[in-house]
Amino acid sequence: MTPVSRPHLEPGRLFIDGRWREADAKVRRDVIDPSTGKVVTTVAEADATDLDAAVAAARKAFDEGPWGRTSGRERSRVLNRVAELIRQREDELVAVESLDVGKPVSLCRAVDVTTAAEVYEYFAALAQGADGAARQIPLPVHAYSRREPLGVVGAITPFNFPLILSTSKLAPALAAGNTVVHKPAEETPLSALLMAEILAEAGVPDGVVNVVTGSGPVVGEALLRHPGVDKIAFTGSTAIGRHAASTAGEALKPVTMELGGNAAQIVFEDADLDKAIGSAIKGFVFNTGQFCMGGPRLLVHRSLYGTILEILAGAVAGVPLGDPFDPATVIGPMAGERHLAKVEEYVRIAKEDGGRIVAGGARLDLDGGYYYRPTVIADLGNDSRAVQEEIFGPVLTVQAFDTEDEAVALANSTPYGLASGLQTRDLARAHRVAARLQAGIVWVNDWAMLDPAIPFGGVKQSGFGREYGPEALESYTRVKSVVISLA
Ligand code: NAP
Repeated sequence: MTPVSRPHLEPGRLFIDGRWREADAKVRRDVIDPSTGKVVTTVAEADATDLDAAVAAARKAFDEGPWGRTSGRERSRVLNRVAELIRQREDELVAVESLDVGKPVSLCRAVDVTTAAEVYEYFAALAQGADGAARQIPLPVHAYSRREPLGVVGAITPFNFPLILSTSKLAPALAAGNTVVHKPAEETPLSALLMAEILAEAGVPDGVVNVVTGSGPVVGEALLRHPGVDKIAFTGSTAIGRHAASTAGEALKPVTMELGGNAAQIVFEDADLDKAIGSAIKGFVFNTGQFCMGGPRLLVHRSLYGTILEILAGAVAGVPLGDPFDPATVIGPMAGERHLAKVEEYVRIAKEDGGRIVAGGARLDLDGGYYYRPTVIADLGNDSRAVQEEIFGPVLTVQAFDTEDEAVALANSTPYGLASGLQTRDLARAHRVAARLQAGIVWVNDWAMLDPAIPFGGVKQSGFGREYGPEALESYTRVKSVVISLA
């Protein structure tokens, strides 16, 4: 495997109507390397005028352009080409995403970039089959339905998985024949700009994908409110999602909302301990805990509580933490200083609430980066804010339970419902408990098993709508019925 080094980056510009351009107001924003705290490049800081231009380009490309009227087979060919180019330019994408987010290069290669290529391939295949249906009814008519694209999709994405989360919107939206205006997170905009280049090279026509870097309250807000946008596909926090859904709702725009999470992993007394520990660690150190589908609450049967805490403390100490460009690194820095500060605040709250720090509990001072040691906290009551709220960092709280009912009640006790999981060797219990967990996805005896064919999304305050799977493609289409008189 070729080593990846920190790339030198040219300043980023907006990508509108197939061309690179400066923001109308000529304002720029710094992009910071979270592993050093230093500025690595700048990107254009758009405002509502630039957003107008992007929506106009997407509108024109949809209303007049060929994309929505091309055959599914042609769109499939282009999306497969996107996947091919992602694989060809893997090193470049790995370097940019690692630098921007502080993700270890090994993780970026194995997960982020690989997944992006697979998602494009998956929706390339579905693009060929997006279809309506004929109905036989007892009238002298021929009735059928057509699946049609919605029009212009406004995609708003968060900082933690920039490439995967933009792909999970762009791939199905494009497969269905829509055009897109994408606003990436202001902290991590770089892979979206590189992908704009790749999409154009693959043959996505001008105006079909537009990337507008800028702030949520300015560009995101303008996108939510723009009358030229037909759907909002949002991933981010529950607080901003609630605002986005209600704003888009005023204009009756369909929305998909992929929001926050705070999942529990239940370890029953008959669990395979190696698997349970492996899943627990994966669930809170993966992506430095900045993982909506993380499992930051470990619920352990009381008979295993002491043993599991002891094993976890030892195991966590051995997970390599450091420079994301070192191929051996498993945990990189937090993506930004504000995320690090948030983790510190929750650990302070946990201690105040009587939590016992079993591992970690402090920053790591290294090269000026935003590092936090993986942290395990025991003995917290269920009402502590450190248990109930989304910390979004490398922190695991561990609680004990006595009965299956109690475990399920604790797992379901937060406002969130994105993911959940359990460890057991008892098949009947696996099905029984999976059915009772309030979550969009339940993992049994592992954590974070995902594939573009498996729909994911939340319930409760984790949102609604599904990404991946045929459900995602459907959400970028609407049904039109055509009824022809046979009289
Ligand atoms: P965030 O603060 O909610 O931001 C998400 C996006 O919304 C960003 O692009 C942000 O722009 C934009 N935004 C902010 N204010 C806006 C406004 N008034 N109008 C329109 N857009 C606005 O979330 P984050 O901190 O980036 O990401 C972490 C959160 O995302 C966590 O809660 C995590 O659980 C969730 N998440 C969920 C999933 C899922 O699949 N369910 C996946 C990943 C992450 P700026 O960057 O410019 O602020």
